[in-house]
Order: sequence, then structure tokens, then C-alpha cells
Amino acid sequence: MLNPFLNVFLNYMNPLRNLNILYKNSIYNNVDINFSSSFTGNLFFTCDLELTPLLMRGLSKQKSKIEIEHGLKYILNMLDKYKICATFFTEGYLCKNFPDLVCSIDTNIHEIGCHGYDHSIYGDFWFPNKLYNFKNLSLQQRKEHINKTNILIKGITGYEPLSFRAPFLAIDEKTLNLLEKEGFLIDSSLYNVCFGKISNPYHPDNKNILKNGNMKIYEFPITMSINFYKKNLMQLYYKPIITEPLNIVYKTFFIMNKLNHYQGINIVLLIHLWEYVIYNNKIQKLKNNIKKLGDLFFFIKKNQIKSKTMKSKFEGN
Ligand SMILES: [Zn+2]
Repeated sequence: MLNPFLNVFLNYMNPLRNLNILYKNSIYNNVDINFSSSFTGNLFFTCDLELTPLLMRGLSKQKSKIEIEHGLKYILNMLDKYKICATFFTEGYLCKNFPDLVCSIDTNIHEIGCHGYDHSIYGDFWFPNKLYNFKNLSLQQRKEHINKTNILIKGITGYEPLSFRAPFLAIDEKTLNLLEKEGFLIDSSLYNVCFGKISNPYHPDNKNILKNGNMKIYEFPITMSINFYKKNLMQLYYKPIITEPLNIVYKTFFIMNKLNHYQGINIVLLIHLWEYVIYNNKIQKLKNNIKKLGDLFFFIKKNQIKSKTMKSKFEGN
């Protein structure tokens, strides 16, 4: 087995990184941006709601719960203030231990999706095998994790989730085929940039999920994240791919809106709830993240960008 550090290094060197550079050059450099035009696409604002990443950083279960509760209240208030609806991808582990957290989300406005049970790995398409010694699940284990999480979510919301996001965004063909069999309508685990352009939701091919095909499930590629994995080994793995400063986020909205063939484009933004909590006394970091989110929401409101939950795509609105 490869040493994990070597593994990360090899991933850093992989062709996706070059694609990312290509994408930036082609899309961002040659378009004249008019910031006064109005936006005609949809925003899918998504938040991963999970305890495991904090536990992995050494926080106790109770302390993690208190922090997440605090952060969730803040995020829900902000969403309410700016009238933005969101899809929360929730861990089964969190639903089991602290169902009150999920209960506090108004499901008439927001959507609850499934984020696996506890951040075991559901596929190795992107993720180097066994990096960090996270458990790599067999297909049968993936099915069990997904089923038990669905039951937990249904116990809280009354509905089985329709949307899925893989822990660590680690997905592959096997998981996507499994999700379809289990009745999911949407997956949002792939990075947009791997298509070499900004892309719309699509039906993948069951043998190659990067290609269009005839699966029933919809893939909603993640367009961007605003503050993802800073000062962490994971940054090396993810940052070249999707983390963007706000000015690039703003630019993307307008460029996508402006280019004819992107009319009606869908933008999927990703945040993690743990980006809005204090751990290791990193108060300044929390303040920075909060400021960024506030600025982003203000931008969304000012430009009258419509937000939707993922499942609303199937509800005729
Ligand atoms: Zn996660």
C-alpha cells in the first residue's frame, strides 16, 4: 500500500489539476463581466451537517453537539434572513445521537438529504484508498449504512431522503448504481471542475459516471465551496479542485449567466456546518467564515438569485 503522504502527492499531480487550470483560463479570463445584469439560473445552496469531522479533530461528542447546535442556529437564521432555501446533507450518526438538531430544520423550506452514516468511504473514484485509515466500505456495507441512515432520517422528518452526498465526496459507479436502486433521485458528490467546464445536472452513464448516460438518478456536480479544508492535509487534495475565494464565486455567477449556452445554469454551493463552529480556539477563523457567508448571502439577495432545494427539481417548482 502507498504511504498516505505519497498518495496525496500523486493526487496533487493528477490530471484533474491541469483540467482545473484549463477551466480557469478558458472561463474566467476572456469574459467581460457586467455586474449589473440579473441572474436567471438557480442556486442550490447545500450544507453538510455532520459530527464525525469534529470528533476526528479530537472534540468530545457533547462538545461537538453544542458547537454544531450553535452553528446550525446561526446558519438557519441567516438563511431565513436572506430567504434562501438549502439542502442539508445529514450524517446518520448525527441523526441517531442528536435528532433534535435535524428537527430544528424546517423541512417545509429546506431539504434533508443523506450524507452516509459516519464518514466511512463509499467509493474510491476521487479518494486515495485508505488515506487516513478511514474505513473503506464494501458494497454490502454501503447499502447497510445508507439504509440505516434513511430510516433514521425518515424517523425525524417523516420522509425518506431523495438526495445523497457521499462522505468526503468519495463516490464511484458502484455507489451511484446502489443509490438508484435504493430510490434516490439525486446525487451531489462530484466536483464540477472534473468535466473541464461548468456543467448542469445530468444523468450519468452507469459504467462511467463522468459521462452522460441513461441512469435515472441525477448528478448535481458541486460548483464551488467558499471555505473548505484550510490548513489541513486535505487542503492539498481538495483545494486545487473546488475552493474559491468570493470574488471568483461572484464572477462565476455572472459568467454562467452571461454565456448563452449556460442560460438557466444551476450553481451548487457547498458549505460544512463545522466551518461555523469554534474548535481549538480558532475564533478569528470562525469570524472570517461568518463574514464570508454574510457577504455571499447579501450578494445573492441583492442580485435576486433564486435558491431551490435539490428535490424541488422533481416537484414541478
Ligand atoms: Zn461530510
